[in-house]
Amino acid sequence: MIDRPETLLTPGPVPVSPEVLLAQGSPMLYHRGPVFSELLADVADGIRMLLKTSAPVVIHSCSGTGGMESAVANSFSPGDKVLVVSIGNFGERFAKICRAYGLDVEVLEYPWGEEARAEDVGRKLSEIPQCKGVLVTHSETSTGVVNDIESIASVVRETEALLIVDTVSGAGACPFEMDAWGVDVAVTGSQKAMAASPGAAFLAVSERALQAHERARLPRFYFDWTQALEAYNRPNHECPWTPATSVLMGVRVALQKIREEGVDRMVARHALLGKATRAGLQAMGLEIFASSPERANVVTCVRASEGVDSSKIVSHVRKRFGLVIAGGQGKLKGKVFRIGHLGWVDRFDILRALAAVETAFVDLGLPVKEGTGVQAALEVFQAADREHGGDPPA
Ligand SMILES: *Cc1c(COP(=O)(O)O)cnc(C)c1O
Repeated sequence: MIDRPETLLTPGPVPVSPEVLLAQGSPMLYHRGPVFSELLADVADGIRMLLKTSAPVVIHSCSGTGGMESAVANSFSPGDKVLVVSIGNFGERFAKICRAYGLDVEVLEYPWGEEARAEDVGRKLSEIPQCKGVLVTHSETSTGVVNDIESIASVVRETEALLIVDTVSGAGACPFEMDAWGVDVAVTGSQKAMAASPGAAFLAVSERALQAHERARLPRFYFDWTQALEAYNRPNHECPWTPATSVLMGVRVALQKIREEGVDRMVARHALLGKATRAGLQAMGLEIFASSPERANVVTCVRASEGVDSSKIVSHVRKRFGLVIAGGQGKLKGKVFRIGHLGWVDRFDILRALAAVETAFVDLGLPVKEGTGVQAALEVFQAADREHGGDPPA
């Protein structure tokens, strides 16, 4: 094997284009000057494009979890009742954050691998008088499952509760329409489908959420939306504190590239890559973990063979081919491996991953149908070529 950098097919961080990397390496900007001000405005506009909203955008220099924490700290008061809908590790994280802030947390919990159902959310909400918020994951990166936020939103909209959505890994890879669906707070991050480096989180905040924020009394300082929006709304847009300027230089270029590709086309690219990945793995005789993986545009979660520690497969693929796939998280540790297909990736990354996984199974003496995975994925791509008249999304 030639000596080249590792390729990430992890569900974040993801491969980043050379243009974004070069932009991040630009000379340092002063964060209270006109050049950075213009950059911030560009980034906020780009986030609105990505989330399909006209809402104000709060920009934090932290990973996605900080964005989740910001949503909680800014929306509620001590003891408020909230409903967390959890289908995996990131749903559990939302519940932990709410508890850490002293909220009265109800969890609607599903077995990992399943998606949430709007009717369950509606029923649960009817049992919680004065529920102030519903917190739900869009793309549950630990299992690959993507929730139907549109139908969940339609149920939550019948109540007074705010709808807060973690679309850190979903935005740009799965359909998401903040305004049309009636989402109040959408949280996303730089290092997933956006294909920039880790270090920036973004929240789009609806009018209703801003009104709730004014009444909300949980302690907050670094992530305070009032401070963030006051600084942004100065004639010279600013962040209240020193932002991750280099990361944001990359984010601006990443968002420009998304604008050129088009959000819907970007989502279609991710959908096609997900479909080909599943087809390839299933042809190899492997089992997809999610119960309804049709919308799994972000990451494919695969069951390891019975009695096999999945981390062996992950480390073999990495050692032998320099290809980084992910193991299981939380209760799926050792049981599954995950192939990310988001960010700056195309069909050849998927073919490479399938070939690497097949070889790893052969090397490790695990059962696999040889010579079938890459072929099945190629058939998915060729069908897309025919359907899109030579201009497929990936
Ligand atoms: C990646 C991710 C986050 C944020 O994780 P960080 O490590 O803090 O960036 C949150 N939610 C989901 C669904 C994610 O995939």
